[in-house]
Amino acid sequence: MTDIQSLISAMTLAEKAALCTGASAWTTTPIERLDVPELIVSDGPHGIRRVPNVNDLASQSLPATCFPTASCLASSWDVDLVRALGVALAEEAIALNVDVVLGPGVNMKRSPLGGRNFEYFSEDPFLAGEMAVGLIDGIQSKGVGTSLKHFAANNQEFQRFSISAEVDERTLREIYLPAFEAAVTRSQPWSVMCSYNKLNGTFASEHHTLLTEILKNEWGLKGFVVSDWGAVRNRVAALKGGLDLEMPGPQDRRVAAVIAAVRAGELDEAVLDESVRRILTVVFKAKATPKGGGAFDVDGHHALASRIAGEGMVLLKNDGLLPLKGLQHIAVIGRSAEAAHFQGGGSSHINPTRVDVPFKELQARAGDAELTYAEGYPADNSFKPTLIDQAVVVAQAADAAVLYIALPSFKESEGYDRTDLDLTDQQVALIKAVSKVQPKTVVVLNNGAPVAMSAWIDGVSAVLEAWMMGQAGGAAISDVLFGRINPSGKLAETFPLKLEDTPAVGNWPGGAGVVRYGEGLYIGYRYYDLKEMPVLFPFGHGLSYTTFAYGNARASAATFKDVDGLTVSVDVTNTGAVFGKEVVQVYVHDRVSGLDRPAKELKGFAKVALEPGETRTVSIALGTRAFAYYHPDYKQWITEAGEFEILIGASATDIRQTVVVTLESTRDLPCVLDVESTLREWLADPQGNAVFGPFFATMAAQARVAFGGGQAEQADLGLNMMDMLVDMPMVSALLFMQPMLDRPAEDIVADLLKQVHAKG
Ligand code: BGC
Repeated sequence: MTDIQSLISAMTLAEKAALCTGASAWTTTPIERLDVPELIVSDGPHGIRRVPNVNDLASQSLPATCFPTASCLASSWDVDLVRALGVALAEEAIALNVDVVLGPGVNMKRSPLGGRNFEYFSEDPFLAGEMAVGLIDGIQSKGVGTSLKHFAANNQEFQRFSISAEVDERTLREIYLPAFEAAVTRSQPWSVMCSYNKLNGTFASEHHTLLTEILKNEWGLKGFVVSDWGAVRNRVAALKGGLDLEMPGPQDRRVAAVIAAVRAGELDEAVLDESVRRILTVVFKAKATPKGGGAFDVDGHHALASRIAGEGMVLLKNDGLLPLKGLQHIAVIGRSAEAAHFQGGGSSHINPTRVDVPFKELQARAGDAELTYAEGYPADNSFKPTLIDQAVVVAQAADAAVLYIALPSFKESEGYDRTDLDLTDQQVALIKAVSKVQPKTVVVLNNGAPVAMSAWIDGVSAVLEAWMMGQAGGAAISDVLFGRINPSGKLAETFPLKLEDTPAVGNWPGGAGVVRYGEGLYIGYRYYDLKEMPVLFPFGHGLSYTTFAYGNARASAATFKDVDGLTVSVDVTNTGAVFGKEVVQVYVHDRVSGLDRPAKELKGFAKVALEPGETRTVSIALGTRAFAYYHPDYKQWITEAGEFEILIGASATDIRQTVVVTLESTRDLPCVLDVESTLREWLADPQGNAVFGPFFATMAAQARVAFGGGQAEQADLGLNMMDMLVDMPMVSALLFMQPMLDRPAEDIVADLLKQVHAKG
């Protein structure tokens, strides 16, 4: 074991500063004199993007398996499968000599327009957190590190290098941080990558609260914090904030600035030492796993990529046409049947070991059926009616049409956001024209985020969301279409009817350097619940070739203490004729709460496999956090005693069973009443109520007399007055009543405060 502390003592100031800045695009600085090797990092996260020349940022990477992107992974709702993916990624990282994989990305899908949504898991922090835990555990189980990214509130591409995300504390804690928190506290990623943007005015790369107080102190990150590539503005401020490693390098001026700051006494060398310690710890941990050689199980990983694609694809609509059977002639339309669209553009781009051609895969499973191909739409954004005409002819002559529609990368990529939810004009016209002449039309979508479908969906028989499906997705599509795979994916994000319905509209994408998260907690289904707004397909939706019945829902206790949590169980039966898998979702609804809360929030899920007629009991544990919310006054997650509904469903809008339970809160909350606290807050606080309750009753009686003069109607006026006062700070309310008081209002408030804080 390397003695890190002795190493640090042996290092010169210049060596320490150099270690905290990269040596190349993908490596840290080695210190040969002390046998400190370099650390090699590479992009991911749905494959290994190992660039052979570490001085090149973007040249062709070595061949690696391109797995489905995060939208597809999350739609599998299968944590074990995601963990298996992690193991495979680690095997490739080892073969390609990569110490740390730059991923996963767990940012929330605040708007479906986000250009990188295909790289992120979900609009729901719980689901995203579970996926991240699975992936990190899988990768790190093999001695390869991860870099959880992009921390934090990086939810758009527009001005991503500079914009300030303005997010209130509660929203940050409940929506934008929990996936990071789950991953850090449960899986200890070897590193966390800070985002480019500012959070509430401060660059994430310099954000002491974010990087040091929350990430390192509160959550206990043991590894290092690395900058997103080029995210550091001020190296010294970043070190002070908690940013350990700046990438990419070399950046000699940055190193010199650190040395100068220490010499000038502007930067405490202990701060630098702490960053050095964190980086060295990971460097030596990584070197415990020998790497290189280049060989990995190419075929096995291709097969795994296909399995994941099959688990993540979501059957959105099916009027009974699928699975395809008894067809003599199938029209296969759309250029992505020939040129698979299987990943997104940008830093996550993988050089695949091979790529399934969807058309060929369909052919291989079609038996005697004849397949005829038509291109349907061009590679660019031009409009070519001849391609539509050809497709119509082909569709008319066939028994059914399968349309492969891929959202082109000029509409969806890292680096820019989408401007609409639409397919290209040609694609929409194509779907309409084909489905008009061929009622048996299936649309297969390849995209990383929701598209609008209202213009054409009623005319088609079936829609399969195949996502950016990875290099082996072509086979998985064919297996689903022909029923070799019974689809079991469910949406990890809502598909809205139209862009105007989406939560961030009005606050997106911001301007003048600021984007305001005005919708607060209400993103994704939380928003559509709030507005009672219809959507195209809800969060959690996905069809199967079989059906499932839910019954006998129960909780381990009717009344429980928050510290104990509870387990909910439900019996799920496959009531159809074929084997299938169901994703059981558990949402929690708080009947009464001190602060406004979303109508329901996902707090548990399980994927269960069932033979026809089989019943299994699904049990899901709900810990304290499942019932808690973050209270900015207390600066912590709190629980409140009372009734909660446990909603067990097949989607966010398809709740099958409800169990009501009563929580007994064991929270001993500090008294946070202060001079600005309102009368209502005094009455709601147990200690406040004890000292102020009797006084308030007297005040109310006096008000009735003073304003009512004894008459009933006037007495109402007096009580009304109390309603008006109740949301005023106590001191303001008392000032209005000063004539009735025997002491100055300020003295009374000071006295009451002294009493409650003495009790607390
Ligand atoms: C991206 C990161 C990526 C890094 C290195 C950045 O532009 O935001 O996700 O890991 O580049 O390629």
